[in-house]
Amino acid sequence: MAGGITQIGFIGLGRMGWPMAGRLAAAGHAVVAHDVAPDRAADFARVHGGRAAGSAADVAPGSTVVITMLPTSREVAEVVAAMGPGLSPGAVVIEMSSGEPSATRAMAADLAARGVTMVDAPVSGGVARAETGELSIMAGGDAAVLDRVAPVLRSMGSTITRCGDVGAGQAMKALNNLVSAAGFLASVEALLIGSRFGLDPAVMVEVLNASTGMNNSTQKKLRQFVLSRGFDSGFGLDLMVKDLTIALGVGRETATPVPLSAQVRELWAAAATMLGPGQDHTAAARFSEALAAAELTSPLVPRKG
Ligand code: NAD
Repeated sequence: MAGGITQIGFIGLGRMGWPMAGRLAAAGHAVVAHDVAPDRAADFARVHGGRAAGSAADVAPGSTVVITMLPTSREVAEVVAAMGPGLSPGAVVIEMSSGEPSATRAMAADLAARGVTMVDAPVSGGVARAETGELSIMAGGDAAVLDRVAPVLRSMGSTITRCGDVGAGQAMKALNNLVSAAGFLASVEALLIGSRFGLDPAVMVEVLNASTGMNNSTQKKLRQFVLSRGFDSGFGLDLMVKDLTIALGVGRETATPVPLSAQVRELWAAAATMLGPGQDHTAAARFSEALAAAELTSPLVPRKG
């Protein structure tokens, strides 16, 4: 196999990890999968082949590449510590979660002392593009190592951009989500104003998409998940708040004054507090709706469910 890759460990078979690991299996890689959720890895092996590992430690032996796709850097640090002694010198850990650049750099330094390279390669595109293998991958790390694992990344993503040294991909990912989160809330507020004025929100979305107000939320979220009242994009509200917190952390580390970004993070954090755990990130629209004592619906968009 290209680059000498024979066995790929994959840890974290959640909404994103499952389809990403599925792409690797479909591309012919031997996947050894693990998830802390009972039966998840066994279910994956039944559907996609490969082997279910009972623990993170059990993933390491024989894996030349190990991919982590976990909620936060905290879980990544746990599994990296568990795998540590079992990872062979020369192995590459590809951290694909939207983690904290400084935490990833610290892990990379620890692993380097044992001859293991860690690169980061977080993704954008959501569950839909994870399923089709068309994710946007933002990579950070040694260029030669990233070249070596490029065939693996290409099974999952259609755009792979090296952003700099390890951690650079995750900084880029958090900043991407900052822009995305600001666009979402601005778009929702515009719809709330417009509907009070008498505009139909679905017509507004159509006009925005043909005009300069177009953004990812107007194209892919407002009609599909807000006006439909489905709130089921597959990306959690807690994870969005985590990403915004990371973006603000990078802002602090670089002494960059970002009052608007701080406000955006506060609004998303308030939405998460108000709505409670287990919400999809598109449910943040309900927070803006509550402030306006209004609900965004349109006779032009059928209700889901
Ligand atoms: P998720 O919550 O659906 O999945 C996380 C998985 O990790 C779960 O299956 C959970 O059981 C498992 N897990 C947690 N702790 C573990 C541990 N210690 N050991 C093994 N397994 C463990 O999350 P997701 O939506 O798949 O997101 C994963 C990462 O990708 C996050 O960093 C997120 O911010 C990022 N991301 C998500 C999306 C999206 O649309 N969902 C898009 C881009 C990036």
